[in-house]
This record gives sequence, C-alpha cells and structure tokens, in this order.
Amino acid sequence: MEHNNIRKNDNEVYEIIKREEERKRTTLEMIPSENHTSPAVLEALSSIFNDKYAEGYPGKRYYGGNEHVDEMENLCMERAKELFGVPFCNVQGYSGSPANMAVYFATLSPGEKVMGMHLNAGGHLTHGWKVNFSGTYYDSVFYGVSEEDSLIDYEEVREIAMRERPKLIFAGTTSYPRVLDFERFREIADEVGAYLCADVSHISGLIVAGEHPSPTDHAHIITTTTHKTLRGPRGALIMVTESGMKKDSDLPEKINKAVFPGLQGGPHQHQIAAIAVCLKEAMSDSFKEYGSQVARNARMLSEELSEKGFKVVSGGTDNHLMLLDLKSKDTTGKKAQEFLEKAGIIVNKNAIPFDPLPPATSSGIRLGTPALTTRGMKEEQMKEVATLIDEVIKEPGEKKIADIRSRVKSICEKFPA
Ligand SMILES: *Cc1c(COP(=O)(O)O)cnc(C)c1O
Repeated sequence: MEHNNIRKNDNEVYEIIKREEERKRTTLEMIPSENHTSPAVLEALSSIFNDKYAEGYPGKRYYGGNEHVDEMENLCMERAKELFGVPFCNVQGYSGSPANMAVYFATLSPGEKVMGMHLNAGGHLTHGWKVNFSGTYYDSVFYGVSEEDSLIDYEEVREIAMRERPKLIFAGTTSYPRVLDFERFREIADEVGAYLCADVSHISGLIVAGEHPSPTDHAHIITTTTHKTLRGPRGALIMVTESGMKKDSDLPEKINKAVFPGLQGGPHQHQIAAIAVCLKEAMSDSFKEYGSQVARNARMLSEELSEKGFKVVSGGTDNHLMLLDLKSKDTTGKKAQEFLEKAGIIVNKNAIPFDPLPPATSSGIRLGTPALTTRGMKEEQMKEVATLIDEVIKEPGEKKIADIRSRVKSICEKFPA
C-alpha cells in the first residue's frame, strides 16, 4: 500500500509501518492464527465507514444517517449465513474474545457452569481459564487430551459432563492438530441439556473450504474470528444454527442484546465492511483451493519434520497446524522461538499436553501453514522450510543462523506476500 498521506503528515508512523511491511515481506510467518489479508480487505478497513456511529442493528439504530451502514451490515450478515448455512449471524463482535463473552451473556447467569478444553491441552482462555473473565465470573470445568495419544478422549469428555452438568460446552481449540468430532460433542451436550458452542476461530477457513467437517448440523451456536484461516480483518461472527433455534428460539435476540447494549457500544462498521469483503473471497473456488492447499502443506511439513526426527504431537496433523514436542531435541519452546525468529522464521512457543515446563518456557512450538500458503507456497517449499527449521534447531550458532536467514529471504522473494 502507498500510505502517501501518512508519509506527508506523520513520518514517524509511516516509517514504523514501512518497517513492519519489510518484516512481513522478508520472514516466513508460521504462527497458525495469522495470515496475509488481501488489499481489498485492507481497503475496506480504511474506508469511510470508520467514521460512523451506528449503535443498534439494521433498521433499529440510535443515530441518524445509517442507510448505507444498514445496507453494508445486512450484506455482511447475508453472506455469513449463506457461507456457513445458518439462519442467524451477528457480525458486530469486536474480536473473538468479546464474541465468546456475548455467548456467555446470552446463555448463562454469572456463577453458572461452563465446560471447555483445558488451556494446556489446546483450549482458549475464554473457555473458562481462571485469569480470564470466563473463569472469574463463571464456574468452569475442563476436559483435556489423553496422555497416550494426545487426542480428545470423548468418553472422558462425557464422564466429566455427566458429573459436572455444565450449562454451556465449548468445542474449540487453538493448538489441536486433529479433527473435532462435533457430532460426538453434541450427543454429550444433549445428554446433559447443555448448549454446544463450536468456537471454530482457527479452522473456519478450512470449514468453508470443505477441509474440516462443519459444526452447522451439530452445534447450537458457532463463533469464529474472521482474521485467522478466514483471512479477513480482525473481527468475529456469532451464529445460531437451526438446532440452536429449536433449542431456544430467543437465542438470536439474546445474542444481539448481549453484544449491544450488553457488551459494546458502536459497532466498527469499517470492520464489518471488511468482513463482507472477506466473506465474498471465502465463497470463491480459489478459496476452496487455498484451504485444501493449507492442509496439504501442513501434512507435508509434518511428515518432513517427523522424518528429521521431530516428535509431532499426536503423530501428525489433519488441519492447518502442528505442535512439535522439543523435549528430545535438547531445547525449549522459548529458545527455539528465539533462534527461529533470528533466522526469519516466525513461530510461537506453545505448551504441549502434560508439559513439564511452565508456559513462559514450554517444551513445544506451534507451526501453521495458512500465511505461507497465501503467499503461494506448496509442498515443495514445505520440504525446504522443514530443512531450515531442522538446521536452526540443530545448530543455532550465529554463522548458521545468518546463512538460514539469507535462504529464508530468497524463498520470500520468490513468493511475495
Ligand atoms: C483466537 C481465538 C479466540 C480469540 O480471538 P481474539 O480475536 O484474539 O480475541 C477465541 N477462541 C479461539 C478458539 C481462538 O483461536
């Protein structure tokens, strides 16, 4: 992007933006929750809709001058409903965490019980973690993964649910490399009369591309961020499915009220315009091809790393990410993240299931392929990337890292973001 006006008016900010552009251009972005958005999405984000106050919903606003805001929000909602096959969608959530907060507001009273995946097993903060609002104002219980194979043990999920009787169950993950069985989660939710919320923030792009089973026929509520595999602006969708309507026909109303006036004031209409653009992109055939390439790339990367002696948690991946257990490599997640960053490979340290180290150090790193795939990389480049990662971890000396850094730069040049 040009940013001519920023350059003219505020050179300090301009220079920082340019440095960030340079960083993104010359590094391999492998944090699975990040991506490179299209220029069209970024243009919508910087559009005139930033200026408008529109508290309320289409047709029922507290401010005047909202005819085009209404058009835009209606268009965005219609696209989301079509793409996910649901009868209701709220598009005003500022981001994934406030969207989940709205689900709590709509379904629970403070102190009532929620069940989510344990953070250390790959869950999200907002699924009941103690330092988060969800663990502070609600009573939370957790399921995890089996020590044997690092997979969700649905029998155990059921046992915990039967014992604890949560009123809301989250099926959603941030570092789980396998398919989620939404049907099984729903059976468990029905047995205890709970709402099932599928938080597909990480995998929504794979779902619309047909690379991961959809929760639409199983969950009552679906939440997702729009900025991860969906490749849009920061933001969120909160959807109610047909069966959610059947369970509680007031759910849409409750969710709308939870978002506004419960949690938020004026919606970010420029963000909603950008979500609309991203949803149209996600409906295209090329996005389906993208989603399928993301998964193929992840499988290739995971196979190559296994062959080089890395322990891949759960033995591989079905989606866009994998978790490497570095215990046998004589390093920690923290060190590996630092060395790889120096070499231009951006990853995040991540707890592995039953991690003996504290989260700030941790024994693993999490790797994802969404951003590299957006740059056009395919299986062949994944082999190259696996080699680079292996070399950095094996020999993180200054000379080696400088060599890898220049090899990373040359891959980046061949695949411009
Ligand atoms: C990323 C994520 C969120 C939170 O999204 P933010 O936009 O960072 O608030 C919630 N749930 C899951 C499963 C996520 O992966």
